[in-house]
Parts: sequence; structure tokens; C-alpha cells
Amino acid sequence: MSALKDSLRELIALEGPVTVERYMGLCLRHYYATRDPLGLAGDFTTAPEISQMFGELIGLWLLEVWNGMGRPSDCRLVELGPGRGTLMADLLRTTRLLPDFKAAATVHLVETSRSLRPKQQAALASSDFSLHWHDRIEDVPPGPTLLVANEFFDALPVRQFVGTERGWCERLVGLEGERLIFGLRPEPEPALGTPLRLGDILEWPAASIDVISELARRLAVDMGAALILDYGYRGPAFGDTLQALKAHKPVDPLEEPGEADLTTHVDFHRLAQAAAAQGARAHGIATQGDFLLALGLEARASALKARATPAQAADIDRALARLTERGPTGMGDLFKVLAVTHEAIAAVPGLPALSLSP
Ligand code: SAH
Repeated sequence: MSALKDSLRELIALEGPVTVERYMGLCLRHYYATRDPLGLAGDFTTAPEISQMFGELIGLWLLEVWNGMGRPSDCRLVELGPGRGTLMADLLRTTRLLPDFKAAATVHLVETSRSLRPKQQAALASSDFSLHWHDRIEDVPPGPTLLVANEFFDALPVRQFVGTERGWCERLVGLEGERLIFGLRPEPEPALGTPLRLGDILEWPAASIDVISELARRLAVDMGAALILDYGYRGPAFGDTLQALKAHKPVDPLEEPGEADLTTHVDFHRLAQAAAAQGARAHGIATQGDFLLALGLEARASALKARATPAQAADIDRALARLTERGPTGMGDLFKVLAVTHEAIAAVPGLPALSLSP
């Protein structure tokens, strides 16, 4: 039994049920602090771990946007939640194409996990960029910024509310004997601003809204752009998207607190709205498949295959399919892409302009 499960039981016995948001926050902190969750031996696999092409195309995207910004000579290249550092290593390789960028950029990795930081350090050791680690985006020094976040926002805790006769009531995690169970706060939440829908679940990504608001405020003031990729949907939508993954299989989110990955699907429309509220411009929202194909994924795959063995070429084809295929087994349309920029950046590669309905 996990140490976290014991301390959660104690906490709930002492203070009463906790919100789903607090439960997620405690589980995720423990989870990321105590392991490398990525890859075949871990719990889940991400696009940069599937193929170097993912990071390379994002590198080209960043270079083009940096060009469009007038090549600022003092630019922060920021990644939120860099995992094993693979995406940053792949995109930095691409930026060699523009030596001026290398001279201009300092790399900032926003990572809370002390067990993943050394992996990032190892992955980036040969990159020859100046590297800085931070716990929070607030700690990254101000100035022109290019930022990327892949599968970061799905790993932040959300509040959940259930539509009842009394109103939207917050979903809680409590105890029944020794077992963790879901429950509801009896009093409804007064000011959610969403019309009541009986029996539905409403997810409120307070932590994500905080991060995107800080990010957008910086970009709107300091100049820059952020590229956000994750699984999710164009909201508004209702439903429980909380899921736990262990060894690549879904498990009960209350069964092994802190030992399984806990995530929710990202509401991209809500993120875009929060960014716009800070005076930033939003672009997208595209599917990952359309975005990568627009950036030239097929041409990159062909170039790599021209120098590959037959087995490597088959790997490249499999990766291309996995990154772009629609439907439940592919990442092509489940994953979405949103960019947030300074208002002066009217267009970015691979993404349509976004008009936000309220
Ligand atoms: N972007 C990587 C890893 C995704 S996993 C990839 O695509 O492979 C999520 C990452 O976010 C991990 O590096 C995790 O440690 C980090 N993380 C999770 N919550 C965080 C938080 N609140 N602040 C900063 N980093 C966080």
C-alpha cells in the first residue's frame, strides 16, 4: 500500500473529504516526484518520445515565429513540463539552422519534479545553450519569450462539479471505511456562471487558467508566442474526463493514489478565452494531425527515410501514422494545438486565426 494512500486517509479522517482538485494535486506531486513516468517501462508515451520529427517541426515553427518577431536578440525559450527533455533536445537541434537564434536564446525549463530534472540535464548537456530550471512560470525572467508545452496542461488538477437539484455541487473524495470514494459537497457553488445541467459534470481547470493567464499576460507585454499541444477538446463541454493510467492501461483513479498518472482532457476553448482576456491573441485550434502535416511532416519523414535502413524506415512510417492518424488509436485528432501570441503577431505557421465566441 502506498504511503500517500495512508496519509490521504489520515488527512480525510481529520479534515473531512477533500476536493477532487486537492486530491489530484497531492497525487500528481507524489507521482511526478518519485518516478520517470514516460516510455514503455513507464505509464504513458508522448509524441516527442515517439519520434524526433515532432520536436524538429516544432523547432522550425519556433524559428519562423522568432523571425516574424524581428529576431529579438535576448529571447527566452521556455518549456513547461519537459519530461525527459526529448522535445527540447530535438527542437534545439533544428535551431542550429539559424546561428543567430543560438546567440539570442537562453533555455528555461519549468519543472517541479526533482527526479526528472537530472534526465533533462543529461538530454540537453551537449546542446551548448545556457540552461535554467524553475518551479513556476512566474520565476522565468521577463522578456521576449517563445514557449512550448506538450502534455503539460492535462497534468494540472481540475475542480469538478456535478449538476444537482440544489445547483452545481463540488465533487469530493472521502472515505468509506478504508476505501476512498467520490462524494459531493452538499451546498452548491454559488457563482459558477454556467447554466445548471442536471446529472452532468463540469470541469473547472483553475490551475490551468492561472498558468495560461500568467503566460498570456507576459506575451502581451513582453512580446512572444506559446505553442500548446495536448489531448482535449474545443469546449464548452460536459462530462467526467478524469482518468488514471498505469503501465499504459486505465485504472480506477482512487485505487492507487500517487502511483498512477492522473489527467483530464484539456478544454482548449477555455484556455484560448483566458489568454484573450489578458490581451493576447489566440491561433488555432487545429488537430495535431493537421498541424504536423501543414508543417511538412511527410517531407521530413521522406528525408529521414532516404538515409534509413528498411527497419528504420518502417519505424518512421509507424511514427508518422501514430502522430497523425484519426480515431481512438491515433493522436491525430484527439490531440489539439493552440498558439497564444502577442497581439502584433497576426499569423503563425500551421494554425488558422481563431475567432472567439464568448
Ligand atoms: N512534455 C513532456 C512530458 C509530459 S509529462 C513530453 O511531452 O514528453 C508532464 C510533465 O510536466 C512532467 O515533466 C512533469 O514532471 C511536469 N509537471 C507536472 N506538473 C507540473 C507543475 N505543476 N509544474 C511544472 N511541471 C509539472
